[in-house]
Amino acid sequence: MKKVFFIVSAFLFFTEFFIFSGTPRGLSFANKVLKNDGIEASDFYDFDKQNDGIETTKFRNSAKQNDGVERSENAVRYENYDGVWTGGDNGGGLNSIMEKEGGNLKNLQKKRPLKPAAPKKEFIKWCAFDVPYDALDKAMNLDADSHKNGAGDLDWIELLTLLAVKYYGNFSSYKPKDLDKLASDIRDGKDLSALKNNKYYGYHNEVMRTVLGEYLGYYKLVRPDGTLSEERYGLKVFSPVAAGYGYSHYDDFGAGRNFGYKRRHLGHDLMGAVGTPVIAVEGGTVAEIGWNRFGGWRIGIRSFDKKRYYYYAHMRKGHPYAARFKKGDEVAAGDVIGYIGMTGYSGKEDTNNVKPPHLHFGLQLIFDESQANGASEIWVDVYALSRLLHKNRCETVFDRETKNHVRKYRHA
Ligand SMILES: [Zn+2]
Repeated sequence: MKKVFFIVSAFLFFTEFFIFSGTPRGLSFANKVLKNDGIEASDFYDFDKQNDGIETTKFRNSAKQNDGVERSENAVRYENYDGVWTGGDNGGGLNSIMEKEGGNLKNLQKKRPLKPAAPKKEFIKWCAFDVPYDALDKAMNLDADSHKNGAGDLDWIELLTLLAVKYYGNFSSYKPKDLDKLASDIRDGKDLSALKNNKYYGYHNEVMRTVLGEYLGYYKLVRPDGTLSEERYGLKVFSPVAAGYGYSHYDDFGAGRNFGYKRRHLGHDLMGAVGTPVIAVEGGTVAEIGWNRFGGWRIGIRSFDKKRYYYYAHMRKGHPYAARFKKGDEVAAGDVIGYIGMTGYSGKEDTNNVKPPHLHFGLQLIFDESQANGASEIWVDVYALSRLLHKNRCETVFDRETKNHVRKYRHA
């Protein structure tokens, strides 16, 4: 309540402050400076750029936190990734003191220094990942080609971040020539500071890094005889469907589902034959395993950096998994984890109640542990990502002894 009150009061205060900045209602602010956005502000508040390019209000001193993000020591307020102004813990105090003494904040500060607030943890509260397949594919190829040529001067995450800034976060106007132009601008050493200094650069960059950060890199294949291939650069995450098995899919994210209660479909269905090996897209730790009344036999794998949770569901009746997984087990990208099936939509274990057979594949982003479960979960549309992952499908072989499929090549 106190926080809500502060946000409201801070909003009113700053609104009035900006509106009445010519005659700031008895407050004597000495000088005024123009922020990037052209809003006039008092020099009482120094505006400073964080590492991530987000402008922060600096009140007196600012300090770099352990994570390298600069925050205001007195935490008057700073802009969240979502663009909402948030007050620090001392903000309310500052306002009330100001109201009480009705006057000059600058002098007031000298008289009564505020106690530094505990640093407030900031994280992305919401995002939709809507980069179209064509943009992902083209940016990835620009990056991969630049590495093949040895230069490695194009980073697809940087390219897509700059594009997101350029498009104000809306990729519906994506044009391939925009990506070509950015790539040549980077190569020609053109000044891209207008995009890089945009206050949403940090937000877009973090979203891109969180979703795509593990996709590209150097790796070697370990052949069945133990010898190593030459080093390669490219996709090192995998399609969830093993090589050589057909499947069909369409963009079904957000479609209605009726089992149990009305809800949105927060994942992607890949229709394939029962028994098709399901591959771990990325490596990580088994976080969920076993029966769930919606997903049937399902497995949830949390990436090693904990920022992504991959959910695979409706696995095969009778023999759902490729090993006796338990929570905490580690899997590598490309490992066979289970088999496509029809289980789920039942409270009774090992029931086939899903038609047609398909793999439900979901990706949840976790910027802060508070988003791991519940109302603040962020699930993203993985249709375009699934199309991209199709370029790296894992070869498997059948092991007659264990009756399981295993990957043919490991990565080193
Ligand atoms: Zn599904």
